[in-house]
Amino acid sequence: MLSAARLLIPILFFLICHAALAEPVTVEHLRVWRAPDYTRLVFDVSGPLEHRLLILENPYRIVVDMDNARMPGALPAVDTNGPVLSGVRAGTAEANHVRVVLDLKTEARPHSFMLKPAGPYGHRLVVDLYDSKAAEEENTKALDEVKIPVPAPERAMPAKPVAHELIIAIDAGHGGEDPGAMGRRYRTREKDVTLAIARELAKLIEQAPGMRPMLIRDGDYYVGLRQRFMKARRQRADVFVSIHADAVPGQRAYGSSVYALSEKGATSAMAGFLANKENASDLIGGVSLSDKDDMLAHVLLDLSHNKTMQDSLSLGEDVLAELQHVGPVHLRRVTQAGFAVLKSPDIPSVLVETAFISNPSEEKKLRTPGFQQQLAGGIFRGIKRYLARNPVAPPAAVKVERVVAPNPQEHIVRKGETLSSIARQYNIHVDALRFLNDLGDGNPPVGSTLRIPPRQSDS
Ligand SMILES: [Zn+2]
Repeated sequence: MLSAARLLIPILFFLICHAALAEPVTVEHLRVWRAPDYTRLVFDVSGPLEHRLLILENPYRIVVDMDNARMPGALPAVDTNGPVLSGVRAGTAEANHVRVVLDLKTEARPHSFMLKPAGPYGHRLVVDLYDSKAAEEENTKALDEVKIPVPAPERAMPAKPVAHELIIAIDAGHGGEDPGAMGRRYRTREKDVTLAIARELAKLIEQAPGMRPMLIRDGDYYVGLRQRFMKARRQRADVFVSIHADAVPGQRAYGSSVYALSEKGATSAMAGFLANKENASDLIGGVSLSDKDDMLAHVLLDLSHNKTMQDSLSLGEDVLAELQHVGPVHLRRVTQAGFAVLKSPDIPSVLVETAFISNPSEEKKLRTPGFQQQLAGGIFRGIKRYLARNPVAPPAAVKVERVVAPNPQEHIVRKGETLSSIARQYNIHVDALRFLNDLGDGNPPVGSTLRIPPRQSDS
């Protein structure tokens, strides 16, 4: 008892001093992004922040209370043309407390989370206002709806061959908070170029008989990397193409490259470099922790998707072959790297780095509609070539089964254990362990608790 009190007093003292000494966090700026089904408000703040949301009716409004914070400037004028937000104003001021009132045109479902500094931004408080329950579920809970297609039982009647419209998911890289790479000479933003090329590609697919485009994003807003392929899966897309125009240090790199997923490591240093950059998108563009679904990690990493990976490589080769007629290619082979956006277990997926926005002459070309159309044309012909060689089974032939998330076990790290030895012990993939526990490259500290994903055969 005595020893507990001895320990408690300094801790309390520290906490009181800490609270009294901590500088208030400054609320510096506010940006508003409109996605098709929600409105995102991003507050730039000078440090981590405690906050609360209050939902009020008559009229509908949401109060954002920020503790130990101050807002020296006025709130900027924000776009209120969307269906939800009618205004943003500062509420009653108290010392070291900021209250911001979001006036609404209609009821909305708020979700908020903090983002750590990433890319061009510092700490941020994100408040998402979903238009409806459906929109909320689509964006926040959708990830636990992972469905694994399993082959239909052999005795089942073969499905009638139905004329199946092939759905091509087109993913314009980056968007909203995440500008992507930036050209040096004209300050061209990757997110604008990728959307322009994606729209050109959609036009071509629209005109092609038997094919239908699906734009993963069709505006200036951010979509989480996993949500990008989840959207494609929900629409039963047959092919997934992510479009980028990236930057590397220096101005000399040029040409198109095509990437497919690798499970282990990148096949070139450049691939690893780009994969790291593209995967940082979620930190910059803003994805809340609720997006990290244990079940998804488990499914993606444990599921053997060899067939999909083979198909992705062959799709990539066809796209690369056609892009060679548009301009120079950076690498003659499809390169493999761990791009998060390509991790769909059952849709052949490739990522196209159309050109280097870091190369001034390619940056200039990327801005022109003519070159954007040529690139879209190359990708389009590549997809057609792939589909001609690999007829896609109609979806009716595939039975879809819902996976129920079992409770993960826990493991306390003992001295001498490494992540790989723990993975071996449970017969799981080391990446699954890393993903599920948000671990970096190193080994977890002794005494920490790890969540152990269930094995594939258990589900
Ligand atoms: Zn990119």
